[in-house]
Amino acid sequence: MSAPESPAYTELFDHLKHTALLGSCAHLLGWDEQTYLPSQGAELRADQMAMLAGMVHERTTSPRVGELLSQLEADGGLGDETPVSANVREARRTYERATRLPQKLVEELSRVTTLSQQVWIEARHQKDFAQFLPWLEKVVALKREEATAVGYGDGSPYDALLDDYEPGMTAATVQEAFTPLRNELVQLVQQIAGSSRKPDRSIITRAYPVDAQRAFGRQAAEAIGFDFSAGRLDEAAHPFCSGIGPGDCRLTTRYDEHYFPQALFGTLHEAGHGLYEQGLNRDDFGTAMGHSASLGIHESQSRMWENSVGRSREFWQHFFAPAQRAFPTVLDGVTLDEFYRAINIVEPSFIRVEADEVTYNLHVMLRFELEQPLISGDLPVADVPVIWNETFEKFLGLTPTDDAVGCLQDVHWSAGLIGYFPTYSLGNMYAAQFFNAAQEELGDLDEQFARGEFAPLRDWLRTNIHQRGHQYQADRLLEVVTGETLSHKPLTDHLKHKFGQLYGFE
Ligand code: ZN
Repeated sequence: MSAPESPAYTELFDHLKHTALLGSCAHLLGWDEQTYLPSQGAELRADQMAMLAGMVHERTTSPRVGELLSQLEADGGLGDETPVSANVREARRTYERATRLPQKLVEELSRVTTLSQQVWIEARHQKDFAQFLPWLEKVVALKREEATAVGYGDGSPYDALLDDYEPGMTAATVQEAFTPLRNELVQLVQQIAGSSRKPDRSIITRAYPVDAQRAFGRQAAEAIGFDFSAGRLDEAAHPFCSGIGPGDCRLTTRYDEHYFPQALFGTLHEAGHGLYEQGLNRDDFGTAMGHSASLGIHESQSRMWENSVGRSREFWQHFFAPAQRAFPTVLDGVTLDEFYRAINIVEPSFIRVEADEVTYNLHVMLRFELEQPLISGDLPVADVPVIWNETFEKFLGLTPTDDAVGCLQDVHWSAGLIGYFPTYSLGNMYAAQFFNAAQEELGDLDEQFARGEFAPLRDWLRTNIHQRGHQYQADRLLEVVTGETLSHKPLTDHLKHKFGQLYGFE
């Protein structure tokens, strides 16, 4: 009897689908918490979320899941690359990771990271790392414990953490791609800094009425194919995309009247995540086949729509006239090229989330550089600010003026998300590789964008990436789609070409 017809398979995947349904309720509550929850409801919401998290964990680690998995594996016929094998493989991986973590550690991590995030907010506000230090020490110690509990074979403890976000990826592979990427980017940033061309930043910092931004952003998200009958776009302090489940995907963005790129490129970014969620097969909900392959692959989709598409000159060949109609007073007398240059300004700055397409990855690599020795114990937590600033100077040629714009800027460490950062740059590299493959197959994508045609690229991504769910691990998916292994080169080639033209040194 083949696996899909066996009662064990049916029982296991009924169980997993119900767990996914429970998880989707938590996601919806989480979205509401970030968007519409009245402040007095915070305590009730925390209780609701904790209860649901407990129920999901209990179902995920149920011994019955282990029995069913063992039964299926004993029946044989698995281990190939079919959807059924992928579903069982990922169910096993999730089960192993969850059951290897002692309940006490899970609870302690949840407790410490909740409190630590509160302390981090205050420490960042006060620009005072010393306040945060004892909490970061606790988080790092717990994450080290997590790595030991999960196990990492011949690799490093960091691999065990990375694996939670980018299954199958190792620190060594990341390092191999990051080193040449960093060398090329540092050089490119220097070339740009030396250019005499200085784009006019004032074009993007004029007063762009928020209502008009809202309408324009929605129009752009619709144009690239985000389906508003299966999703929403709202406002949140920290933009995100939450795929609640089939037919329901929630995007958020934030508006700054005097900084046009923030909301629009934020919307395109999150809509790129949203297209991935909307492109997953509905019937596979709750299984690996109905789930994204990794955070890096997810990020490849958002960065592609944000940068390869949204920051291209051709995109604006199509959208600049509508933008001029939407913002008549601000864009009056501005040319397409002046606008294109302004939305592509490259300038080293302190804050990662505000960084341009070129410097962004240097911010990510700095974090990767610190996280590994933090977890191995080679970098004492107390030394983080000094090493952060030294590395920042080395990568970006600037020294942060205080810890709020230095090592205290991101929420990740306080939330226990160590090992997460590399997925941002992996996403950028995957995006460039996927984009080249799409270009090769679809002809001149740029010309299509200039005509306002985004469906061919979207459909290509749907077929080649979205509908494959988590059939393959990220590196294998990359190979299946592009025939290549992970490489920094398509990304640096793209950046050198684009910014060489913009800054006149190609
Ligand atoms: Zn993203």
